[in-house]
Amino acid sequence: MSENAILKIAVNVPLSREFDYRPPANGPVPVAGCRVLVPFGRRHQVGMVLAHAAESVLPEGKLRAVTTVLDDAPLLSAADLWLIRFTSDYYHHPIGEVVAAALPALLRQGKSLHPIVATVTISVTGEAVDVEAIARRAPRQAELLEILIDASGAGLDTGHLTEVLPTWRRAAKGLLEKGLITKQDVRAEDFDESLPAGAQHGPTANEDQQQALAVLRRSDNFVAYLLDGVTGSGKTEVYLQRMRDTIDQGKQVLVLVPEIGLTPQLVKRFRDRFGIEPALLHSRLTDIERLAAWQAARSASASLIVGTRSAIFTPLKNAGLIIVDEEHDQSFKQQEGLRYSARDLAIARAKHLDIPVVLGTATPSLEMLQHCHSGAYKHILLSDRAGGARPPAIRLVDTVRSPATDGISEPLAAAIAAHLADNGQVLLFLNRRGYAPTLICADCGHIAGCERCDSRMTVHARSKQLRCHHCGACRSLAEQCSECGQAVKPLGEGTERLEDSLRLRFPDHSVRRIDSDSTQQKGAMDAALRSATEGDADILVGTQMLSKGHHFPKLTLVGIVNADQGLFGSDFRSSERLAQSVVQVAGRAGRESRAGEVLIQTAFPDNEFWSTLIDGGYRQVASEALAEREITRWPPFTRLALLRSAAHKQADAHHFLAVARRHIESQASTSLRILGPVDAPMARKAGRYRAQLLLQSSDRATLHGILRYLRPALEQDPAARKVRWSLDVDPIELF
Ligand code: ADP
Ligand code: ZN
Repeated sequence: MSENAILKIAVNVPLSREFDYRPPANGPVPVAGCRVLVPFGRRHQVGMVLAHAAESVLPEGKLRAVTTVLDDAPLLSAADLWLIRFTSDYYHHPIGEVVAAALPALLRQGKSLHPIVATVTISVTGEAVDVEAIARRAPRQAELLEILIDASGAGLDTGHLTEVLPTWRRAAKGLLEKGLITKQDVRAEDFDESLPAGAQHGPTANEDQQQALAVLRRSDNFVAYLLDGVTGSGKTEVYLQRMRDTIDQGKQVLVLVPEIGLTPQLVKRFRDRFGIEPALLHSRLTDIERLAAWQAARSASASLIVGTRSAIFTPLKNAGLIIVDEEHDQSFKQQEGLRYSARDLAIARAKHLDIPVVLGTATPSLEMLQHCHSGAYKHILLSDRAGGARPPAIRLVDTVRSPATDGISEPLAAAIAAHLADNGQVLLFLNRRGYAPTLICADCGHIAGCERCDSRMTVHARSKQLRCHHCGACRSLAEQCSECGQAVKPLGEGTERLEDSLRLRFPDHSVRRIDSDSTQQKGAMDAALRSATEGDADILVGTQMLSKGHHFPKLTLVGIVNADQGLFGSDFRSSERLAQSVVQVAGRAGRESRAGEVLIQTAFPDNEFWSTLIDGGYRQVASEALAEREITRWPPFTRLALLRSAAHKQADAHHFLAVARRHIESQASTSLRILGPVDAPMARKAGRYRAQLLLQSSDRATLHGILRYLRPALEQDPAARKVRWSLDVDPIELF
């Protein structure tokens, strides 16, 4: 056989290997980065050519040939393929699945870069129709109409519709006949970043910002910078000015933001400053939109690419700079399937491309701080708020002495009243959606639990349901106890209850709840944020969703309704997380000329955590936590990997991990600690029993050496057939 005539191909299957094929019988040999169609088992699959090789492990007669070459030119460059291979190696995840995660759905399915896609659009008649009247007779039709109206005239592709409304085809039939909607084949358009308005000037950088910029401008090569600036210190302003240099040089900037950080506010800031339209990549796009943004990044017709986690895989033709905003945010870590950290991959990618990466946050993760201490990353500090705003004053409310009623203590109520009287806006933070976290029988004490999980059902008063926040199970809210028939009552408070209690206490003020329940519908989040920003909502009630990155000019008081959950968490990251969450929420207060105030309700005001945080700030909490981690040998001073398994029988879940443990011990290494198998913290979830095995080592090479052996061994082991299992490298949820 001639030299390099074997193609190494990644196929989207859960096996840690590449597959060998011969090139197609006639036609050119596809180069690395091209997609091909290959026979796989009895079917055909889309594959990605990774490399060429001289020899195959398979005998000549067993080798099958590629059926079709799907791309004339490589879809992915050598650097893009490097990232895919690195991800597969580092997270010990099948490379075919990494390729699938890196490609937009349409390309994964084998469509061309400019596919013709069937779309459905609202017609002019449809826009004028009375949807409510239709809803009475044909609710499904009305639902489809609403989705299409929300898309404001843009056609939605059929794949996307199937995702959001699986039964849309039946509804569409009636609507098509009435001429309320139309169906068209549309060719995916090219992306055009030009905007009519030109770029605007920003404020002149203050002294701290100038110093930060001077450091950031020293190099166009790889350096990892931690831009550690208090909330409102003007980090975004620093990014913007540094990004401007890169864009002016004709290079591309990739900005990664947390899941809910991609707000209209931020996009507007980019648009105004650079006078260009950024290519956006986030979870709410249709398949066509996603492909267009992806292709714009790949072809460099977009200079600025802004996206959430998975945007890290976007090919970049001419990358010059990567920015990770709110580096500490947990949404950068994917928690299922390919469990990667987009932040960590951003650093690896920047290093490989030899370009700078800027990690910004007011509450750095201990991992990044430790990299700065060791000298690997460069620490840049912004210690004061920009534009003269003062840091908010933090005060504790002792809920033992001043108990809260429906979530609100008297001191908090008084502060709310005072700020409202002074025309300020108030934000109450409670990281628990629904009405109440528990439904209890007043008579027998029975608590409504989930049938499929070891968890309680949350009361949702608005929808009159009990819902499990772990598996999504849902049943209607009964007024009698299922055990004894007596009256039940909701215990504790969630955002819905807090909203009700605020409306009662402050009837003359508008209250707006912002959580994932209230922002389900497309456009609802934008509308809520707009009303929060413009200040026509006097009191905001929200979850984590409201704690990040937002700038509400009128906001002067932040109330943290219940901070105690985090004080006694079992995870070694509990105090880091609690401090981050408190500091981020507190940072929403008093961002403009008016001073802000923060009230924290706690039953443990004497806990040392509070004095450390209030007197020493996040920096002090972080430095004490780091010292403790060094002694207790937790990350960043050791490396972790977590092997999880789940099965219908508890014994199967444990047996698989016991087998895994034996595999690991067969490779024995003294510097590896193996903990488990043990039950997962929630031992039963969605009807499956879950267990875990934790691997810990102070030496990354040792850990990865074992994993490299372990993964393929487990794939072949019969014990794996009875369980669902996954490997999580650098896990962030342990207990
Ligand atoms: P961060 O990203 O650190 O939270 P931002 O960049 O959003 O901070 O800045 C906070 C506020 O201060 C914004 O309203 C911003 O316009 C303003 N700001 C930032 N830098 C300056 C500056 N040099 N002069 C005046 N205002 C500034
Ligand atoms: Zn459940």
